[in-house]
Amino acid sequence: MSGVNASTATATTATADSPAPGHTGRQPPGGDADSSRTGRFAPSPTGPLHIGSVLAALGSWLDARQRGGRWLLRIEDLDTPRVIPEAAGTMLRTLDALGLEWDGVVEYQSRNQDRYRAALQTLKDSGRVFECSCSRRELAGADTGYPGTCRDGPVRPGPTAVRLRLDPGELCFDDRVQGRCSYRLEQLGDVVIRRRDGLFAYQLAVVVDDAHQGVTDVVRGADLLDSTPWQMQLQRALGLPQPRYAHLPVVVDPGGAKLAKSRHAVPADTTRPGAVLLQALKLLRQRPPAELAGLPPAQVLAWAVPNWNPSAIQGLASIPCDVATA
Ligand SMILES: [Zn+2]
Repeated sequence: MSGVNASTATATTATADSPAPGHTGRQPPGGDADSSRTGRFAPSPTGPLHIGSVLAALGSWLDARQRGGRWLLRIEDLDTPRVIPEAAGTMLRTLDALGLEWDGVVEYQSRNQDRYRAALQTLKDSGRVFECSCSRRELAGADTGYPGTCRDGPVRPGPTAVRLRLDPGELCFDDRVQGRCSYRLEQLGDVVIRRRDGLFAYQLAVVVDDAHQGVTDVVRGADLLDSTPWQMQLQRALGLPQPRYAHLPVVVDPGGAKLAKSRHAVPADTTRPGAVLLQALKLLRQRPPAELAGLPPAQVLAWAVPNWNPSAIQGLASIPCDVATA
């Protein structure tokens, strides 16, 4: 690792290069240090990390590190039918190769069942939840999220899901990237917190774990923006603090389809980690200087931390990626 001089030189070039409008300039590392700030990356182990997931990991890592905060890693492996056994290990090795170091031990949701069970009991005790016997097919025609069919009890015997009854009305929040967001809760519908197959649902687990881990800043892909009002309703019902949210643009293929479902979703190339980081930075409109090409991840990140500027992606919900390889 030959490096300190090179990274200083490239950072200087970048500052002189004058970045996007609205850029507040380079912040000294740790100048805005806030060790009470905690971010996280919470992938589902359903496949290797591709450029879209690298972008989410990098964005949340930079957001935490620029302020001297912690960055946690949580493997969201509750949806057991979709989990691929080797995927979590591959993800950890990829993050390691990219130099995205996490703090503390890796959390696995599959080991937190007691935590979710306790939260479910709290919600049951408060009378906010109900059992729902509706199948996916029965709900397919509904023009709102959930028509309220089972609010007074399941309409049929057999397996039931558990849903949280939402407060009626409008829910608004300020997303740090997407700006002001507002939702009619009745359009979203009562959210499933335990599935009909008995598994705890993503929405409950994420809220319980973020609170348990002391996450103050959720930075994730904009594909999860519409989950946020449900999660806020759950936080309120459980008496949990509400983190700040920043939803990063989602990488889409040239046809506009979500990368995860595309042939462009190739695994991040860990033999060229610096190049993968540079590609992610460019997609995030961070304008890394050309001099960073070919440098190892530590030096790319040494430039990226002080220069991280989320205002460059303000209001951007998706970014097309026309490169098939990272
Ligand atoms: Zn129902």
